[in-house]
Amino acid sequence: SHPIVAFIGLGHMGGPMAANLVKAGFPVQVFDLVPAALEAAAAAGAKVAASAIGAVKGAQVVVSMLPASRHVEGLYLGEDGLLAQIEAGALVIDSSTIAPASARKVAQAAAARGLAMIDAPVSGGTAGAAAGTLTFIVGGEAEALERARPVLSAMGKNIFHMGGAGAGQVAKLCNNMALGVIMAATGEAIALGVAHGLDPAALSQMMAVSTSRSWATEVCNPWPGVLPNAPASRGYEGGFGNDLMLKDLGLAAEAALGTGASIPLGELARNLYSMNSQAGRGALDFSSVVNLVRKA
Ligand code: NAD
Repeated sequence: SHPIVAFIGLGHMGGPMAANLVKAGFPVQVFDLVPAALEAAAAAGAKVAASAIGAVKGAQVVVSMLPASRHVEGLYLGEDGLLAQIEAGALVIDSSTIAPASARKVAQAAAARGLAMIDAPVSGGTAGAAAGTLTFIVGGEAEALERARPVLSAMGKNIFHMGGAGAGQVAKLCNNMALGVIMAATGEAIALGVAHGLDPAALSQMMAVSTSRSWATEVCNPWPGVLPNAPASRGYEGGFGNDLMLKDLGLAAEAALGTGASIPLGELARNLYSMNSQAGRGALDFSSVVNLVRKA
């Protein structure tokens, strides 16, 4: 009774998400441009297709998890685009983090073909993808979300409906913009304390139960050695890459330009993560931004 799900894009996030759909009993047909990603999906029990078009054959639900706007528009739009190949009546779910304007454009093209589509970017990282505990942040018609719910529930724990097409992407960018600002601010504050001889762990413990408490003080503290499980304590390896944060802050800036909204701190944060990238830390966790103000 499970509908056939096509899954396009089997990277750090898409690979484990597709595997969780298989585990939940959905027949899953996958495609990625990278052969190794296809082999991993096959080992997890998915049926590998030779192309995206092959993957959507017979599928009632199509999920995509691609890097950026251009990949999503490239996949779905145009004369050779996937929207022209998807079965009538199927539901399309794009979970990539992309520009709200791109999400609306693709959703409109889907609607013109009579296909329901939601944007459903995620929060929770690769650990959440593997554990099936992602948060889905959804834009689109409520009716389409209801149809998507069993599929999303197999990959995540929380589902938030933010509004119409593109609203999920807007909300995701709001979250990540605030996160980027808070991380940079937290690192700067700890650096000030350390410059005055304070112990960074003692300072962080105080902050974590005081008015500046946040995910940055409690879970992903940017100062090395404060939290043993944080990326900062393993050379900033793993976690959420600086350049992914930079991408999301660029999308936030683009979204602000589109409406005239003011995002002075978001723009400043975008520049800080850009500088951190140029300093050679683009592939490291974004909390490495603290190194811009940390004395060696
Ligand atoms: P990734 O680069 O690991 O995976 C993307 C995959 O898409 C790759 O395997 C690539 O080969 C494939 N791909 C690209 N174009 C394709 C096409 N036309 N057809 C088929 N496959 C194609 O990226 P990721 O880390 O899995 O992230 C995916 C999205 O999720 C991004 O938008 C990212 O911002 C967002 N996101 C990532 C995280 C994270 O922690 N990594 C957390 C939340 C959200």
